[in-house]
Amino acid sequence: MSIGITDLLPDELAEALELKVYQARQLFRWIHAKQVFDLNAMTDLSKSMREELRERVTLPQIQPVQTLDSRESEATRKYLFELHDGATVEAVAIPEGERLTLCLSSQVGCAVRCTFCATGLSGFVRSLSPGEIVEQALHLLHGRDLRGRTPNIVFMGMGEPFRNYDAVVKAIRMLMRKDGLNIGARKITVSTAGDVPGIERFSAQKWQVRLSVSLHAANDTLRSELVPLNRKYPLARLMDAVRAYCDAAGRQVTFEWTLIQGVNDSLKDAQELASLIRGLRAFVNLIPYNRVDGLTCEPSSPEVCKAFAARLEAAGVNATLRRERGGDINAACGQLRARQIARPEGA
Ligand code: SF4
Repeated sequence: MSIGITDLLPDELAEALELKVYQARQLFRWIHAKQVFDLNAMTDLSKSMREELRERVTLPQIQPVQTLDSRESEATRKYLFELHDGATVEAVAIPEGERLTLCLSSQVGCAVRCTFCATGLSGFVRSLSPGEIVEQALHLLHGRDLRGRTPNIVFMGMGEPFRNYDAVVKAIRMLMRKDGLNIGARKITVSTAGDVPGIERFSAQKWQVRLSVSLHAANDTLRSELVPLNRKYPLARLMDAVRAYCDAAGRQVTFEWTLIQGVNDSLKDAQELASLIRGLRAFVNLIPYNRVDGLTCEPSSPEVCKAFAARLEAAGVNATLRRERGGDINAACGQLRARQIARPEGA
């Protein structure tokens, strides 16, 4: 059976491929630090070794099949990747001033089925392997001039990362390796829809990787409607887990709040949010909703978004209103894939 080598850390590569440790490290460096997938180009590996590897490994495990650039000045670029079994996932590179953010997927589809989300709409197919996750970042960075910037990584693409906990954690360890992309823990954020067991495991990790919780509602009735996972882990339980995470190492948590017209964008909603997170070291990201084909949700108007942010600030909450990005390239998570699935063969 062919070995997906991006699933493996250097010591695992050495064992699986019967390589010396330094050879496994060379191989890892070529792929992860230099984003080289062509074994022929790995000139410090012997020719015979490259030939032998070609027989035994799968590299890369994912292939970009479509890219879309937004028309904004600093183009947001969305990728659709095809996996070995024909499944597809999305990832996005978002440049913003000095920052470059890579938004990665952790699963094909998603079982959480949030009612406003294109990925949730298409149901769950399977979880990604660590290599399939890391390769999204490698492809997004391939050939890109970083101008000295270190990218930020957010697990906010398709899937609930804590429903694929072990693979996500291994992918993060690979992304942080000095002989790989060397991304600092504080530049990586895992975003959950509120999977409490996952938050508890994550709190026990001895690292500074950041946690973000997609809240979208601050009362159980509305949240259970928008994020069905809330029926299993209601707000009281979720907030206990978040509080324990913050207490564990004085860490800050981020809450994501997608502003949907007439659903969760009133001043009363803002006040309710402020009350829910009072006393926590928290930061709120307000995200204007991106329309999704087949769903009736609409984005809140810019004035309503600003008023919501102002009410939070007045209540002493640290909040940022994000600019709507990439609306012209189906930026809502899962939408490019949904359109590809819906397209008839050969269209
Ligand atoms: S918003 Fe996230 S958790 Fe909810 S269905 Fe979409 S991908 Fe899954």
